[in-house]
Amino acid sequence: MRSKRVWAALLEIEQVVVESVRFEPFVSPDGVVGEGGRSDGVVVVSVRPKAGWGSRCGRCGRRCPGYDQGRGRRWWRTFDVGLHLAFVEAAAPRVRCPQHGVVVEALPWARHDAGHTRGFDEQVAWLATRMAKTAATKLLRIGWATIGAIIDRVIADADAQAGDRLDGLTRIGVDEISYRRGYKYLTVVVDHTTRRVLWLAEGRSKTTLQRFFALLGPQRAAQIELVSADGADWIFNAVRDSCPNAEICLDPFHVVRWAGDALDEIRRDVWNTARKAGHTTEANQLKASRWALWKNPGNLTANQQAKLAQIQRTNKPLYRAYLLKEQLREVFATVGQAGIALLDRWLYWAARSRLPQFVDLARKIKTYFRRDIVNTLTHRLSNGLIEATNTKIRLLTRMAYGFRSVNALIALVKLHLGGYHIALPGRP
Ligand SMILES: [Zn+2]
Repeated sequence: MRSKRVWAALLEIEQVVVESVRFEPFVSPDGVVGEGGRSDGVVVVSVRPKAGWGSRCGRCGRRCPGYDQGRGRRWWRTFDVGLHLAFVEAAAPRVRCPQHGVVVEALPWARHDAGHTRGFDEQVAWLATRMAKTAATKLLRIGWATIGAIIDRVIADADAQAGDRLDGLTRIGVDEISYRRGYKYLTVVVDHTTRRVLWLAEGRSKTTLQRFFALLGPQRAAQIELVSADGADWIFNAVRDSCPNAEICLDPFHVVRWAGDALDEIRRDVWNTARKAGHTTEANQLKASRWALWKNPGNLTANQQAKLAQIQRTNKPLYRAYLLKEQLREVFATVGQAGIALLDRWLYWAARSRLPQFVDLARKIKTYFRRDIVNTLTHRLSNGLIEATNTKIRLLTRMAYGFRSVNALIALVKLHLGGYHIALPGRP
């Protein structure tokens, strides 16, 4: 093998002719390297595409006429050679595309608008899911924001190539997650069948979710049978408008939380009454009982069990509220026909509980949500998957701190949870 072919093989680039290889002090015309290389120099491999490559639009790949030489020769960061940074150097002429105008032509070794070769991009994407942030930036000698930009384009490319990722969907889950404390939200769609994150986008509104259904198209949207969600109007409305055959499965966690909120309101009322009446001991006990009332009975400490027993003796309404909350949790633990029967008994009991908060809750469930809960009990589809997913996304959000765009965060989430197969270059 001639040494120039060896170089092409070393850098995992195809469709190129290697013109020369040189070693030179590190001066990057593109500023593509964050931390610089070794002071004694970098490897520069000068190449040109093979004659048959032709001139193509960098964005759509369509063959089009040449326009000019662009901004001269450019560098693309590629795999290190030994401990030295290495670059592919080549001309980057421009073409005139009927659709995209004057753009830099497509080149075999790099994605459009990238300062790194495809192989380098893939190596970064592979490492980003397996390595801590500081280790990755140190090994790769690029900044974290650059890693964000790279995984963004790797995922965009994978999405563009896998047009059928959204085929055959029947059961999905939709939820929102805040990614900048209290300010910014992502809408997340998961596939219950493959347990993958399918789609994410900035925002949490009917319009946001409609973008997902637009991507699916009416035919595939009509195949959606079940959508698990938390009872938010915007999800319900988007599903109603776009998925004619879908039923909503209301997430048990949220329903039980409604009951928990009702219970907490009652506890606060009782506490305020005791406090205002000057019953300090009782008020303090109530204040301290919050967790005993909230937690699942199986997880109570001995101390919390004692508190609960005391409420049972001294405060019948509050204890009744506690039992109602627990009974609703039991409904979802039962599922199927027995669960539905239990739900209806619960609605009957809550409506007659003489606890206004639970009377209201029973009315709300009966009027708006009974059918959605019955779906959940029948199909056993909970948002558990999406809750678990959200926990992971929250961790990734912290990891994505330092990325310059939300798209990089979305790409990081997809890379971790989307079931993409990004291979380490040169390995199967
Ligand atoms: Zn084009």
